[in-house]
Amino acid sequence: MEREPEVYARQAGYRPIDARLSPRFAGIRTFARLPHVRDDLSGVDVAIIGFPFDTATSYRSGARFGPEGIRSASVLLRPFNAHQGVDVFEALACVDFGDVTIAPGDTVITYERAQADLVAVINTGAFPLVLGGDHAITLAELREVARVHGPLALVHLDSHSDTWDSYFGQPYFHGTTFRRALEEGLIDPARSIQAGLRGPLYSADDFEEPRRLGFATLTTDELRALGPAAYGELVRERIGERPVFLTFDVDFCDPAYAPGTGTPEVGGFTSAEAQAFVRSLAGVPLVGADVVETAPAYDGPGQPTALLAANIAWEILALVALRERVPGGGERLAQGSRSDGQTAGNGGERL
Ligand code: MN
Ligand code: MN
Repeated sequence: MEREPEVYARQAGYRPIDARLSPRFAGIRTFARLPHVRDDLSGVDVAIIGFPFDTATSYRSGARFGPEGIRSASVLLRPFNAHQGVDVFEALACVDFGDVTIAPGDTVITYERAQADLVAVINTGAFPLVLGGDHAITLAELREVARVHGPLALVHLDSHSDTWDSYFGQPYFHGTTFRRALEEGLIDPARSIQAGLRGPLYSADDFEEPRRLGFATLTTDELRALGPAAYGELVRERIGERPVFLTFDVDFCDPAYAPGTGTPEVGGFTSAEAQAFVRSLAGVPLVGADVVETAPAYDGPGQPTALLAANIAWEILALVALRERVPGGGERLAQGSRSDGQTAGNGGERL
């Protein structure tokens, strides 16, 4: 019996396998059924990269299985994003790079090994879209993306600020990532915005600290009152001319929608609201992004958290695709848009 040549021919242009030709439950699990390409990324616009690391979690571990869970859920994705009016995989040559190299149990060595893989991707000009993994992994990504683009504007959706100074006496933890990134000059807090903050705090200082460091912050209540359109406007105003790194922690959503995560906080957003906030970022000059903290072992029946994470990653791809498609919509993936400037913490605002 002959195999169906068209199923495979469509992968030649880095298209996903078409679910009308080959059922979704068949085949090897890659993100959105894209081809797995690791060695030659020439001509690739976006590399989807797994970062299966969860040593830096403060409560529930398990995000090491996040990339696997997201890939499995992502077989449901189709190419056309009706909200943005773009065929994501027509506009972008996307591949699944597989996972970066890690060292379970050692965050610092993991950073070294993962950065070596990330730099190999980023040097090809491909946009890195990373699937975590706990939020500590973002520091490795920011180090390599900022090396190319200079200090980045951080657009951060999360119920936590992740700007605590240390956990259990350790500087590299999933709750300290953006304090370290700021100290290393990787992000410009005056051009960065954190939104979705909520939950029981250690003290009132937990909300004040990121502002003191220079970040703009929005609590969940403030973001909900603002709505997606005004949030998108606020982000565009805030980032100025800086290239943007977008980081999405699935605990941005309520545990009713995203139970499969390390440190859930009640009172959060629905999946639909999360989509709307990400969609509102159309036109923002992204140079890298991640979706973190998916821990499938705590997920509900039907894996809603992994499905949410897959869809948020796909919405991010649509944002990248929009910039590829729109004439004059910005330099190609904002390559070479580096602009140097102050990274000192000042100008933090409560918005
Ligand atoms: Mn986080
Ligand atoms: Mn969080």
